[in-house]
Amino acid sequence: MSSLKGPILALVDLDDSLFQSLGKCRSTDSLTPAALDRKGEPLSFMEGSQRLLWDLLAKAVVVPVTARNLSSLRRVSLKFKAGAIVSFGGLIVRPDGAIDQQWRDEISPKALRARDFLAEAWALTKSLIKVHRLAARVKIISDDSLDFFLVVKTAPAKLRELNFLRDELTQAYPNLGRIFLNGHNLSLLPNYLGKAKAVQYFIQRLWEPDGDERLVLGLGDSLADREFLALCDYILTPSRGQLAKLWP
Ligand SMILES: [Mg+2]
Repeated sequence: MSSLKGPILALVDLDDSLFQSLGKCRSTDSLTPAALDRKGEPLSFMEGSQRLLWDLLAKAVVVPVTARNLSSLRRVSLKFKAGAIVSFGGLIVRPDGAIDQQWRDEISPKALRARDFLAEAWALTKSLIKVHRLAARVKIISDDSLDFFLVVKTAPAKLRELNFLRDELTQAYPNLGRIFLNGHNLSLLPNYLGKAKAVQYFIQRLWEPDGDERLVLGLGDSLADREFLALCDYILTPSRGQLAKLWP
């Protein structure tokens, strides 16, 4: 557990914060592959500035806080030695790769209660896609046998379709979940799920700053990161990201 020790904790969102797909890179010069697709081909890349940021974080205990589930985190080539917060906070991985059982025990009854809601929302989205002939794909993201959230992906040019689906889902389930729309992704999260709660648990129970002087840095690009970033002492956000665009 020694890698959880250190006065600086850096909680980092991954996609669109530390790397992004090729189409989102500002230039094709000096890119470093950072994550693979299911076939093992490079899918996401770090720009030079992101690589330098990653190097800068070397002094810290670096923990990814990501919507990726475990299998998709394994396709990221950056090495994290202090565990991970995955599936929008649904699971916490300890530095040795084991799932934090205490957190899983807290989460699993909630995930089981939300299972029917997710299945229903999946079926509704699927039928909307079919009836309206939308160029979109929907799936439920699961991890360690628990269903956590729904994700809809569309081509970057089809954002109108995501807006339409967001409106339909909001109308169908006004109180059951939260919807985050960023780029060509839509995520529907049951109310209990979120990065911030898992971050809180991680800070209180797992991190060992070993002293009074401590610093928590947060990196994130999207509205779905806002709550966990608010728990950090300092917030880093890419200037081209969704959060930075809220600046006047
Ligand atoms: Mg992101």
